[in-house]
Amino acid sequence: MLDLHVHLIGHQERKADREALRRYLGAAKSQGLQTIGFSDHDMFWEELNFDLIRQVAAETPELEVLVGLEVDYRPGEEERIRGMLAQFPFDYVIGSVHEIYGWPFDMPDQEGSYRRADPDELYQRYFEIVAQAAQSGLFQIIGHLDLIKLFGVRPSRDILEHAAPALSEIAARALTVEINTNGRYKPVGEFYPERKLIQEIQRRDISFTLGSDAHQPEVVGRDLPEAAELLRSVGVREIASFSGGQKIRRPL
Ligand code: ZN
Ligand code: FE
Ligand code: FE
Ligand code: ZN
Repeated sequence: MLDLHVHLIGHQERKADREALRRYLGAAKSQGLQTIGFSDHDMFWEELNFDLIRQVAAETPELEVLVGLEVDYRPGEEERIRGMLAQFPFDYVIGSVHEIYGWPFDMPDQEGSYRRADPDELYQRYFEIVAQAAQSGLFQIIGHLDLIKLFGVRPSRDILEHAAPALSEIAARALTVEINTNGRYKPVGEFYPERKLIQEIQRRDISFTLGSDAHQPEVVGRDLPEAAELLRSVGVREIASFSGGQKIRRPL
């Protein structure tokens, strides 16, 4: 079992010090994980002490500790992102869309304007940006693929129609999609992405990985056995891990 979407810094509620690291690694061990991957928001990346992570990781050799990053993808920022990623050999980079042309749609205080918008337009614009994120070549993993559903608003058109261009880019570049269990704790109340998309992703032979999107140690590994079971139920037999940007296939 692995959890590749873990925020050590969270939203800056804590310092990424030795004590915080030990709490996260302890949580990973008690959840029975073999691998934990830190993937903090890119806006905090300069707070990460990579040497310290390696030092503390050496205290628990039975646990593999990866260092990734969750990048807020915005069209037009490719060069800035490329420059940032060149400064550290991240094991993997998650590309996530949290904004539609300057509008941070996933913030709780945005629910009102979100509900006033046309759902099909929301979904279409969101997935257009996801397709650009995939096409950018900057990321190994696409984060919470259908995050746009978080307030529980559904499009009237088929979700597969909305997602098809993004899935084609993801498949063409052999990127990985995560099952992100955190959606269950948002108004929508289900994992990202939904089952219908999971089946389509599997049909297209796109690889999967797992992430809790924990922003605190207590959440590390949350619901991942259930997510793994969901993948097995649609015929998935392998899961992707990463090292130095290279995909590593593991039996599920
Ligand atoms: Zn966050
Ligand atoms: Fe995110
Ligand atoms: Fe996250
Ligand atoms: Zn996230």
